[in-house]
Amino acid sequence: MSSTTELKHFIGGTWDSSQAGETLRVINPATGNAMSTVPMASSVEVDLAVRKGLDAFQEWRRTPVTERMQYLFIFRELLEENFEEIARTITRECGKTIVESRGELRRGIENVEVACGMPSLIQGYNNEDVASGIDEHMIRQPLGVVAAITPFNFPGMIPLWFLPYAIAAGNCFILKPSEKVPQTSTWLMQLLEVAALPRGVVQMVHGGKEAVDALIEHPGTRAVSFVGSTRIARYVYAKAAKHGKRVQCQGGANNVAVILEDAEMEMTSEILADSAFGCAGQRCLANSLAVTVGGARDPFTEAMAEASRTRKVGHGLKEDSEMGPVITPESQAMIEKMVGVSEKEGARILVDGRGKTVDGFRNGNWVFPTLMDHVDPDSTLAKTEVFGPVLGLIHTADLDHAIALINSGTYGNMACLFTRSGAAARQFRYEANAGNIGINLGVAAPMPFYPFSGWKDSFFGSLHAQGKHGVEFYTQTKVVIERWPSIWSRKF
Ligand code: NAD
Repeated sequence: MSSTTELKHFIGGTWDSSQAGETLRVINPATGNAMSTVPMASSVEVDLAVRKGLDAFQEWRRTPVTERMQYLFIFRELLEENFEEIARTITRECGKTIVESRGELRRGIENVEVACGMPSLIQGYNNEDVASGIDEHMIRQPLGVVAAITPFNFPGMIPLWFLPYAIAAGNCFILKPSEKVPQTSTWLMQLLEVAALPRGVVQMVHGGKEAVDALIEHPGTRAVSFVGSTRIARYVYAKAAKHGKRVQCQGGANNVAVILEDAEMEMTSEILADSAFGCAGQRCLANSLAVTVGGARDPFTEAMAEASRTRKVGHGLKEDSEMGPVITPESQAMIEKMVGVSEKEGARILVDGRGKTVDGFRNGNWVFPTLMDHVDPDSTLAKTEVFGPVLGLIHTADLDHAIALINSGTYGNMACLFTRSGAAARQFRYEANAGNIGINLGVAAPMPFYPFSGWKDSFFGSLHAQGKHGVEFYTQTKVVIERWPSIWSRKF
């Protein structure tokens, strides 16, 4: 890619330039250099894609599920063959370290593998003789054309939370990736083209609000999946509902980890440094608040301060970098501002990651690990998703208070507990109001055969991404009741 590379939409199996002509530059967050330009779709391109999808659906839904899967097997092999180049693309456009990029791509591929089980996953159920001589069946049928709108922070994995399930279930799928990271999804489309997936089964339109609105409003789209900030998730959820669409929207987060006195401190601080500062804190499963209970306070604070100071920040393509830049200069400014606000509201800065740079990459969007102590549970920092490498410490007397603090928050993506006590772990699992729980784990990311189970303001809808939830989301149930009277016996 070079700054002159013009990315294109992928519509009906053809690489299309924007009709509207509006483009944005795709910037490497570590260098500040433009890598390519991305076209912003208008309702014209979206309409074309939906119509191509509707055409393709006629054949695709009739293609046996065992044949549909074959394309996914090939796609999986192509992802493996091009694994390193795709991971490098993720790092270049998103900034995260190459190790993190490999990790997210691996999880994406696992979703393709799980969707290859569609012949079993899509099965319905049946009863004979619900009344004498009458049988009843439930079968699952695809919806038609479905769309997914994805965020910047996992350009390889998040499209694959949806795409493989949607198409294996017989739908035609349109991806609207984040305009900040469109190169990775271009890779995905290129590989599906090589796999000779029939035209129109998977398409991609680039863009922002206009493209999203057009996808939701189009009478031809049946379902919308969204992952991004809570503000936009709410908007998409309401708009899609208004237009009668099936919808699932994953939003932002502000995850809390609780550290009990009996936790193994060295392991806990290592795991929580990875959780808070991995992907530069730009993970919906990042722990941004750590609540110590009783005597955990001093040893944990010391260990975290050390981990924050020593984390190696650098260009993501350097194998020894442990943390890359944040996505944009605006994001950097917002994170730095939040640290200042938190200090004004009474928190103490133990490790300050503001105003630093990486040698040789002065134009990157660098924020180093930042540790704030004595964060007031009612302060702005405790209530806001910062989405950067900032960890706030809160100290409480007991586990009940720590759980109450989690439950008072508006988000519910994840909560983690560090302890050696099974009883404490059970209480936490039972009482904490979050949809993903980690016990002695800092990033409780569900495997692809489990739902990615956010709650509260972290999720709007009922069926989550991945696994069986994905299959249910992308299929509609049909119940058939049938009687076959025997004309010979005349028995009805
Ligand atoms: P974002 O909300 O800014 O953008 C997400 C998508 O929405 C993008 O495709 C973007 O083009 C589109 N969009 C932006 N503004 C829009 C508007 N006004 N109308 C319609 N569409 C619009 O999110 P982001 O900055 O790309 O990603 C970071 C956010 O995503 C964080 O809040 C993070 O917590 C969240 N996230 C959540 C999960 C989860 O599973 N819950 C996973 C990853 C990221």
